[in-house]
Amino acid sequence: MTRSLLLATILLLAGCQSPYALDERWRPLVEVVERPDLLVSDTIATTLGTRVYVADLDAFLERFPPESVEQEALLLHEREHAVGQLDAGLGPWLARYLNDRAFMWREEQVGWFLQLRRLQAGGRPLYPQVIAQALAGYRNLEGRMVSEAEALAWVQAVLAGTWTPEEPSG
Ligand SMILES: [Zn+2]
Repeated sequence: MTRSLLLATILLLAGCQSPYALDERWRPLVEVVERPDLLVSDTIATTLGTRVYVADLDAFLERFPPESVEQEALLLHEREHAVGQLDAGLGPWLARYLNDRAFMWREEQVGWFLQLRRLQAGGRPLYPQVIAQALAGYRNLEGRMVSEAEALAWVQAVLAGTWTPEEPSG
């Protein structure tokens, strides 16, 4: 390997690992970061504060290309978590998310609501059974977030337009 090729390879590797910056409109989110060691779940993306963490950034950008409906839908979901975390404080939010199934389910309902409605508006095919299975796979220290049957009924209500997030009280 020549020196210049080596240098090019190092730059390429560095490029793969550098964060994917997000446009202003996604604030408080600032970037998507590859941190395979950080992920404790098999979900696609994990948001902590102002950053979205993914196991493999290239794979993420292939599945959620810039400017695509898919990426926009996912970022709507993740931004919702970011806003909630910054509101409550990241520590308290995480403690509740990890220990309180009802809280986790409410947070995910709002995130998934935004994501599903955006995909639906973009004319993307949606498979309620598959989405319900994914939701039934969420767990925290208290146990399973939601049953597949409840998740399926909820996804169908969202897609039918009969479920919307509650207005914050007070
Ligand atoms: Zn979520």
